[in-house]
Amino acid sequence: MTARPAGMNEEFTMTQVSETVAATLDQIIARYGGDPGNLLQILRDAQDALDWLSPETQSAVAKQLDIPVTRVAAVVQFYAHLYDTPRGKYRVLFSHNITDRMAGSPALMAHMLKRLKLKRGIVSDDGLVSVGKTSCTGMCDQGPAILVNNRAITKLTLRRIDEICDLIRARAPLANWPAHYFRVEDNIERADMLLGSAYAPGEALRAAIACGPTGMMAEMRKSNLRGRGGAGFTTAVKWEACRDAKGSGSGEERYIVCNADEGEPGTFKDRVLLQSFSERVFEGMAIAGYVTAAHKGFVYLRGEYSYLRAPLEAKLAEMRRNRLLGMSICGVPGFDFDIAIHMGAGAYICGEETALIESLEGKPGHPRVRPPFPVTCGYKNQPTVVNNVETLCKVTEVALHGGLAYAGTGTRQSAGTKIISVSGDVERPGLYEYPFGVRVSQVLDDAGAYDAIAVQISGAAGQCLTPQEFGRRIAFEDVPTAGSFMVFGNNRDLFEAALNYSHFFEHESCGFCTPCRVGTALVARIMEKIHSGHGARYEFNELNRLHQLISTSSHCGLGATATNALQDIMTKFPTVFDRRLIKRDFEPGFDLDAALNRAREVSNRDDANAHLAEGIDA
Ligand code: SF4
Repeated sequence: MTARPAGMNEEFTMTQVSETVAATLDQIIARYGGDPGNLLQILRDAQDALDWLSPETQSAVAKQLDIPVTRVAAVVQFYAHLYDTPRGKYRVLFSHNITDRMAGSPALMAHMLKRLKLKRGIVSDDGLVSVGKTSCTGMCDQGPAILVNNRAITKLTLRRIDEICDLIRARAPLANWPAHYFRVEDNIERADMLLGSAYAPGEALRAAIACGPTGMMAEMRKSNLRGRGGAGFTTAVKWEACRDAKGSGSGEERYIVCNADEGEPGTFKDRVLLQSFSERVFEGMAIAGYVTAAHKGFVYLRGEYSYLRAPLEAKLAEMRRNRLLGMSICGVPGFDFDIAIHMGAGAYICGEETALIESLEGKPGHPRVRPPFPVTCGYKNQPTVVNNVETLCKVTEVALHGGLAYAGTGTRQSAGTKIISVSGDVERPGLYEYPFGVRVSQVLDDAGAYDAIAVQISGAAGQCLTPQEFGRRIAFEDVPTAGSFMVFGNNRDLFEAALNYSHFFEHESCGFCTPCRVGTALVARIMEKIHSGHGARYEFNELNRLHQLISTSSHCGLGATATNALQDIMTKFPTVFDRRLIKRDFEPGFDLDAALNRAREVSNRDDANAHLAEGIDA
């Protein structure tokens, strides 16, 4: 199979824009009010309609929005799910996450490629199909998973792959594929305060209104609710800073942003909350708006969860009908708040709140320099609260039960419960909700992890715990987590996990700063060299040196944590590397003797002395 032409070097003028493309773009751009701030959404919709974002399309978008085409190209090139080269009518992406790999995704992808007579990443000559890989799809509890045209299909088997290949060959529209292919289970294995309690729509909002904005803020302070995205910042402090900040310019406004860009490998709790508890998320946002005097909210939904968009829009419409959103919420004059959904497009870095805000503004998701912080200078430079999906659900608990009651669960520094996404070598993968303070061993026992040799907590950026550490507690004062447990049984080679993480961060580095952009690539090359059997103590030491450099001199949290798990594996599981390192101090990553072939040909010498001695120490 051969690749189709990239086309990015062709020059286009507006006269070359086909009528179909122009009419399609007219409609899309009008839908977004011709606002360049919606560039990412416009490009996503344009791609859905036109299959890919050709230079012709990019030029037309730039012209219609009256912005430089380079700005459009920068956005297209930044996001993994935007394509400036043709792609197949059917676009299959296999999750590359380590738990999907452990569940057999490499063999399934090889099988599909063979059946379709394709190479990975290359569009078939007839333009029908392309097969590639993507970062974690958030389906780790029901992997192996793929995305087909952004729709998730889980629990893949060889048989299911065969069926999918047949459907693709028959050019069956996705709407005609068996509906059960696309079913995404919640897999709630342990429920507590949030997942286990009955909820009547509007009751949290009415409880907050009964307290008044000042009273509700006081309850939030008493609750000691901390953000569930990983950093654990106190939510009330964030809200107060936003409420008290002075906006800039005549269009002074405050914003509430729900960070639903759940991209940390192994984490899928927000997927379930958005699928089955969305009224809690939206009411939490409305309460935040009530307390901070914000009138507008955004849900920034990761591209991999596109299938959730329609049900979320339907829920928003239902809430507007029930006066739980919109003007005069619950009949309270002046309590006006509404929510829009913005889609991401495959960029892990947009989980970082300032990168997310850049993305919301239609730009590449490069993290901003802080300060100023988003609470004073966020979306459109206005005071902005960014809260995680789970955090916003917890706000409804505070409203319903009061701050002190909420703080009565968990530990002193970690109030309430925490939802943990458990996947990997366990009998019962899924969601587990516990009061903070639960021991790691308890979670493992409940999930049926009977032979765990390690648990990767909080995704690829988190920490890798040994069995000696399983007595530690999940809490901000001991083991903090955004909510991911990836469990490795005793038949696993943790080097494979470390290699996977190194590729993940190389791919997800946004490229803004050199230590992270170059450093993560160097780490990945060194890991590949060790994987291929050419790594020596030199490479091991280089990994340590790069860890020091990347973690201390990168611009944002991604770089600062990119080598954490690797370091954990190197220091806590020394045999993982020891058994792979060769005994010499250094060995080139290529065949040096073979590389001298040309020199031997030129000199017409091929005697023993013209070869490197066997076993020479390079
Ligand atoms: Fe981008 Fe990495 Fe630098 Fe963060 S540390 S700004 S992700 S290059």
